[in-house]
Amino acid sequence: FGNNDHGIAGRARKYRVTLDPRMDSTSPTGEASVHDDAMKESALNATVYPPASFVNNAHVSSLKQYNDMYRESVDRPAKFWGKIADELYWHTPYDKSKPVHSFNFDVRKGPISISWFPGGKTNLCYNAVDRHAASDPKGTALLWEGNETNQDEVVTWAQLKERVCQLANYLRSVGVGKGDNVTIYLPMVPHLVISMLACARIGAVHSVVFAGFSADALASRLVDSKPKVVLTSTGTMRGAKPIPIKKVVDAGIKLSKDKGVHVERVVVYDHPALPLAQCNWDESIDANWSDVVDTQPKDSPVEWMDSEDPLFRLYTSGSTGTPKGVLHTTGGYMVGTYATFKYVFDHKPDDVFWCTADAGWITGHSYLAYGPLIAKAKCVVFEGVPTYPDAGRCWDIVDKYGVTVFYTAPTLIRSLIRFGDDVVNSRDLSTLRLLGSVGEPINPEAWKWYHEVVGKRKCPIVDTWWQTETGAHMITPLPGAFAQKPGSASRPFFGVVPTLVDSQTGKELPPGPGEGVLCIKGAWPSMMRTVAGNHQRFEETYFSTYPGFYFTGDGARRDEDGYFWITGRVDDVINVSGHRIGTAEVESALVEHDKCAEAAVVGYEHDIKGQAIYAFVVMKEGVEFTAEMKKELVMTVRSIVGAFAAPDTIHWCPTGLPKTRSGKIMRRILRKIAAHEEDGIGDTSTLADPAVVNTILEWRGN
Ligand code: ATP
Ligand code: MG
Repeated sequence: FGNNDHGIAGRARKYRVTLDPRMDSTSPTGEASVHDDAMKESALNATVYPPASFVNNAHVSSLKQYNDMYRESVDRPAKFWGKIADELYWHTPYDKSKPVHSFNFDVRKGPISISWFPGGKTNLCYNAVDRHAASDPKGTALLWEGNETNQDEVVTWAQLKERVCQLANYLRSVGVGKGDNVTIYLPMVPHLVISMLACARIGAVHSVVFAGFSADALASRLVDSKPKVVLTSTGTMRGAKPIPIKKVVDAGIKLSKDKGVHVERVVVYDHPALPLAQCNWDESIDANWSDVVDTQPKDSPVEWMDSEDPLFRLYTSGSTGTPKGVLHTTGGYMVGTYATFKYVFDHKPDDVFWCTADAGWITGHSYLAYGPLIAKAKCVVFEGVPTYPDAGRCWDIVDKYGVTVFYTAPTLIRSLIRFGDDVVNSRDLSTLRLLGSVGEPINPEAWKWYHEVVGKRKCPIVDTWWQTETGAHMITPLPGAFAQKPGSASRPFFGVVPTLVDSQTGKELPPGPGEGVLCIKGAWPSMMRTVAGNHQRFEETYFSTYPGFYFTGDGARRDEDGYFWITGRVDDVINVSGHRIGTAEVESALVEHDKCAEAAVVGYEHDIKGQAIYAFVVMKEGVEFTAEMKKELVMTVRSIVGAFAAPDTIHWCPTGLPKTRSGKIMRRILRKIAAHEEDGIGDTSTLADPAVVNTILEWRGN
C-alpha cells in the first residue's frame, strides 16, 4: 500500500477533463515531451489544466517560471524575498548586508530560534491601510454583508483608516501600548477587522477568539494571554438564531477572575441584533464603543515595529489536544501573507475576494484580513451563515458583489452538495475565476463538484495546505502555473522545502514517490516563532520528534510528479493487518457513493487485525439508512480502495458528525465511541453542536 494504485490518487484518475489544447504539449513535470507521452501521463494522473484565458494573465504562467522562481527562493532567499519585501513599506529598511534570515531547527544544537529581515522596522496596519488610504481614499476596502440579505455596508480605504485610528487612539488612552495583549471576541462585522488593525497599528498583540466559543473556552484563552482590554459586541445573529455575545464575555471574564486574571476594560459594539440596554452593564469595566471610540480623533500615529516584534497570538483549533497559543511576528508574517495572497490567488486589482473563514481562525487572519488588505484587494466580510435564509446564500453573495475569487473549506462544500446543483445553477456565478479550499483534505468527489458545478470548469482550484503555525500557504497549486490533480495540494510554495520522513527511522525518504510524515526543512518567513509563554512546548511539539525538521503532524504521499497528497494527521493513520490506511482515503471512497454526504473513519482495537475500521456516515437529505445501504457502502470502499480497507462497522449519524467550531471533525470523540469508551469522551464544549454526540450514541447499532 502506498503506491498510487490505491487511495485518493488512484481514484482521482477516474476523473477526466478535457485537456486545454494550449498546455497539453507539456507534461506535468515540465520537460518537453512527445505529445503522446504527455497525454498518457495526464490521463494517468487525472490532471486538470487551467484554461488558456487564465494562464495568459497569470502572475506565474508556466511550470518553468514556477520552477525558476522556486529555485531562486530556496537557493538565494535574500534575493527572492528581498524583491517581495521591497514591494512593501519599511520605515527602516532591513539590513541587506546580513543574511535575510537565521534559524536553528535542531534541538540538539540549542534552543529553536527563527528570525527574518534583521533590523527592519515596519507596521502591518500602515501597509494594509495607510498606503491605500493615501493612494485611493474612495476605493472600496471592505464589502460587509450582514446576516440579513438587506444588511450591508461598503467601507472605503479612507473610512477604514479613520475607524482604525479612532480605536488606536482609544486603546492608547486606556494605557494599551506596544507588547500589551488585547482579546477580540467579535462576530464578523467590520469592527473585527478594524480591531485587529488598530492593535497592529499601536503594537498591541491581538488574540482573536472565535465568537462562537463558550465562556469556558474564552476564559482559558484570557487566562493564558492576560489582556488588559477585551473588544466585543452585544450580540449577533447566526441565521435565525440570536447569539448573546456579551453574556459569554461576562461569564468568561468572571471565570478568568477566579483564576486571578483581571480584564480592565470591555469595549462593546452595540450590535442591532441585541440592544445594549438589554445587556448586563458594569460601569467600572464596560464601555460603549460609540461613546468611547467613535468620538476619538480620526488620525493616530503608527508604532514602528521591529521585524521580530510580536503581531498576534492565535490558539489552534484544538483538534488534537489543548489549543496552543501560536505566536506570529511582524516582518516575516507580513511578507509571507502578502506573497502567498498575490501568487496563490493570482491577485488582480479588479478582483473581489471572498474568504468565508471567520477571522477567529488563521485563515481569517491571513486571507480575510492581512494578506488581501496588504495587497489592496476588495474583500467581502460576511457575518451570517451559508444556509440562511436558504442554501443559496453563498451564491447570492457571489452574484451580488461580483466575487471573482472564492476561498472556503471542504466542510462547507460538502454541506452545500447535499442541497443539489439547482441551488447553484439558479444563480449567476459568471464573475468567478478562481476557487480555493483549505482546512482539510478535499476529497476528489467534492473537488469535482466544486470544479464543475461552482466553477463551471473554467476556474482553477487552489487546494491550500497550511496550518495556524505556518502563518501562510505552504503546499498549494499556483493556479496558472501547472495542472491541478483533484485531492492533491500539489507543490510547495516559494521558499518552502517539504520532505517526507520515515516515522520508524526518522530519516528522510529518498526523492521520488513515497509516503511518510510531512516535515519542513528550513525556515520560511511567516512561520510561528514560539508557543506564547511556553517555548518548551513549541520545541517539544514541533522539533523534538524528528530533530532537524519542523514536524507538521500530518502525513503525506508524494507522487511521481512531485505532487503532495495530504493523507491526514499522522495520529489518524489506521493499521489493519499491517496495511497503513489513511482515514482520508476511506472517507473519500465512502462519499463517492452518491447517497453518502459525509464520512469520518477511525480505528479501534481488533484481536486479529490489530486495528479495525469504524466508519461514521451522514447520508444525503432524505436518504434512508438500511442494511442494504450499509452493504453498498462497504462494497464501495472494497472496490475503490481494496478489501483490506473495508469498514468493519458503519455507524449512521442522523444529525451529523461532531465538529469543532472551525468545521473539523473531532476524531478523538469518534475514537472513544468506536472503542465503546463513552466515559472517556471528555470535554465537548468546543464542539459546534455538542448534542450531536448524544444522537450518535443513540443510533449505535442502527
Ligand atoms: P490543533 O493543532 O489544535 O489540533 P488544527 O490542526 O485543526 O488544531 P489548524 O492549524 O487550523 O488547527 O489546522 C491545520 C491542519 O488542517 C493541518 O495540519 C492539516 O491537518 C489540515 N489541513 C489544512 N489545510 C489542508 C489541506 N488543504 N489539505 C489537507 N489538510 C489540510
Ligand atoms: Mg494542528
